[in-house]
Amino acid sequence: MSPSKTLLITGTSSGFGRALAQEALAKGHRVVGTVRTQQALHEFQALASGTAVGRILDVTDFDAIDEIVADVEETVGPIDALVNSAGYGHEGILEESPLAEMRRQFDVNVFGAVAMMKAVLPYMRRRRKGHILNITSMGGYITMPGIAYYCGSKFALEGISETLAKEVQPLGIAITAIAPGSFRTDWAGRSMVRTPRSIPDYDELFDPIREARQQKSGKQLGDPSKAAQVMLELITHDSPPAHLLLGSDALELVRQKLSQLTAELNQWEAISRSTDGC
Ligand code: NAP
Repeated sequence: MSPSKTLLITGTSSGFGRALAQEALAKGHRVVGTVRTQQALHEFQALASGTAVGRILDVTDFDAIDEIVADVEETVGPIDALVNSAGYGHEGILEESPLAEMRRQFDVNVFGAVAMMKAVLPYMRRRRKGHILNITSMGGYITMPGIAYYCGSKFALEGISETLAKEVQPLGIAITAIAPGSFRTDWAGRSMVRTPRSIPDYDELFDPIREARQQKSGKQLGDPSKAAQVMLELITHDSPPAHLLLGSDALELVRQKLSQLTAELNQWEAISRSTDGC
């Protein structure tokens, strides 16, 4: 087995964060997991005595993040890998959804993840070593009606991850954006924030989408524990990728999107070229 590592994972009460924490603990790694309640803290620490270390953190409490990371570095040890898993989906037709929902979506999925990265980077940079995994989504590549704020947040995190990877690769730090397809977690169930319907013009388009997502919740194809095994392998990999899709649905849908995009670029190529100066 590779030497044990210290992982800091956000959102370890359920889903990908929890599955990765369990997999890492089983392989002898140390995991600092963030949760949002005292009850979840007890449950998390009970996963493994001594090596499962809980911290209470809402990732939108930006002012608390630096202090928590400093404390982990001092009391638990150098953080080898940060995994930004805390996040949720907002579902709602754009015209119906308050701007406040967009702010909240970006605060958690984008600003929270960036604040975590900014907090660990000084330590990783000093050591010229470290790996950050951001759980984005296939919704960071493809879109569908009713999840504009969510896709916007995941496109943003994909772009930020890719840019950061280029900035810190020369300093020995790797960044991987993990884009899962549909997985069996609490994402489409208790965690999803659904804006109520108010404009009948969208009924025909959106009602079947909302209903299908509710029906599918808990029966998705993706297995979070298999995703966890893959992420754990990546953390011990010498040259991890900047992007990784998880799930055959993600692979198929993203490939479709890329070929549609290429076809559209080709169709409009002459116009695109026509704006060059001579
Ligand atoms: P999940 O089971 O609902 O887990 C989400 C985790 O994030 C929970 O631990 C939750 O804590 C935590 N969290 C939510 N808001 C938070 C906040 N403000 N501060 C701190 N923690 C917060 O769903 P999941 O699927 O594992 O979601 C993890 C990530 O995967 C998300 O970014 C999601 O968008 C992404 N993703 C999921 C899928 C999928 O199909 N499942 C696909 C693509 C991407 P609480 O228990 O306190 O709510």
